[in-house]
Amino acid sequence: MSADVITRRRHELPPTAGLPLRLSDLRPGPAALATIIATQIETPPLIPTCSGSAALMIALATLAARNPQRRRVVVPAWTCPLVALAIHQVGLDVVPCDVRPAHFDLDPGALRRVCDERTLAVVPTHLGGRIADVDDAVAAAHAVGVAVIEDAAQALSARYHHASVGMTGDIGFFSLAAGKGLSIYEGGLLLARDPQLRSQLARTARELAQPDRYWEWRRRLELLGYFALYRPSGLRLAYGNPLRRALRRGDPVAAVGDDFSLPLPLHAVGRWRQAVGAHAAVRLPDFLRACLKRAQHYLPRLKAIPGVRVLEDPPGTIGTWPFFLLVLDSQRRRDAVLDRLWRSGLGVSRLFIHALPDYDYLQGIVPAADVPNARNIAACSLTIGNSPWLTDADMDAICKVLEETRA
Ligand SMILES: *Cc1c(COP(=O)(O)O)cnc(C)c1O
Repeated sequence: MSADVITRRRHELPPTAGLPLRLSDLRPGPAALATIIATQIETPPLIPTCSGSAALMIALATLAARNPQRRRVVVPAWTCPLVALAIHQVGLDVVPCDVRPAHFDLDPGALRRVCDERTLAVVPTHLGGRIADVDDAVAAAHAVGVAVIEDAAQALSARYHHASVGMTGDIGFFSLAAGKGLSIYEGGLLLARDPQLRSQLARTARELAQPDRYWEWRRRLELLGYFALYRPSGLRLAYGNPLRRALRRGDPVAAVGDDFSLPLPLHAVGRWRQAVGAHAAVRLPDFLRACLKRAQHYLPRLKAIPGVRVLEDPPGTIGTWPFFLLVLDSQRRRDAVLDRLWRSGLGVSRLFIHALPDYDYLQGIVPAADVPNARNIAACSLTIGNSPWLTDADMDAICKVLEETRA
C-alpha cells in the first residue's frame, strides 16, 4: 500500500497549511503587515520581529531587565526546541515542565511545583492552532509574581475568551516562519496588552534588533524561493525530497526541521518583506475560515477511529487548523502508521521529535528532567497537514492506514 501511494503521487502535500503567496504579493508597498494583522485580530499595536524566537528573546530580555534576580523560564517539556535556544541565548535558564497526559499543555500540578521566586516567566503554548489553558498558567504564575508569555507561534488568529490568544497572558507572540500560516519566510509579531510594557518591548526591540543587510538579503531570496515552491509541484523539491533523504539516513530530527543551532539571528525586518506580508495578510481571514471548514469536515472521521485521539479545543475558544494533531494509543502503532505514511507525500509527519531534555544538541541548555508525559506525546503523536490541496481521497488513504494499523 505505502509503495503505490508513494509512486502514484506526483504532488506533495505540506505538513501544515501555509497561505500560498501570489505574484502580486511581491510588489512593493507600505510596511503595513503588523497594522493589518492587529486590525484583523483586534489587538493593540503589534511589534514586528525577525522571527518568533526573536520575539521571545525580546520579551525575555525586557522582563529580565525589570527583574534581574529571576533567571528561570518555565516551558512545556514538549515544544519547539527554538524556545529553549532563545531562552539560553538571552542568558536565562530553561526549566522544562511536564505536560498533561496525551496533551501538549502544561500540567497544572507540575507547573505549580516549578514556579517560585526564582522564576521570571512561564510560557503556555498554543500548539498547532490548539488552545492552551492560559487561565491556569496565569493563576499559577501571578500567585508568585511570575510573568506569562503566550507562545502563539502556531496560532495566529486563534481566540481565547473572545480575544486574540496572547491577550490573556502578559505578553504573546506569533511566528511568520515558512509553514506557519502567513509567512514572510522568517518573521514574528510581539504583543502586550499593557501600554507601558508594550513601549518597553518596543524599546528593547529597537536596541537588540538592528537592520542587518546580510540577513535581510538572505531572507528576501528565501521568501522568493518560498513563493516559487510553496505549491504541490514545488513542495516535492523543497520539502518532500529532503524529508525522505533525512529519513533514509535515519535522522528524524532533520526530517522535521527540528535541527537548529545558536546563535539565532536577531535583526530588524525590512520594508519589502513587511509589504509582501501585508499584501498576503488580506487573504488570511478567508484562508483560515477555509482551514476551519476542512477541519470540521474531516474531524468526525478521524475521531471515529478507535485508539486515536484528535486534539480539539476547550469551550470558549476558537483555534486555527494548520494541521491535525493525533495521539495514538501506543508508540508501536504510531511508528507503524508513519512507516506507511511519512514518506507518502500525503502531508503526514511528526511535530517535535523529542521531549526537550532528549535532544542531543540541547545538552547543557535544557537540564535532565523527569517528564514522562512529554516523552509519551513525542512518542505517540503524529500530524496530518490540513492544506488547501488535501482532498477527500488523500484523507481517505490516511484514515485507512490509521484504521488498519493496530496497537
Ligand atoms: C516555530 C515556533 C517557535 C519559533 O518561531 P520562529 O519564527 O520559527 O522563530 C516558537 N514556538 C513554537 C511552538 C514554534 O512552533
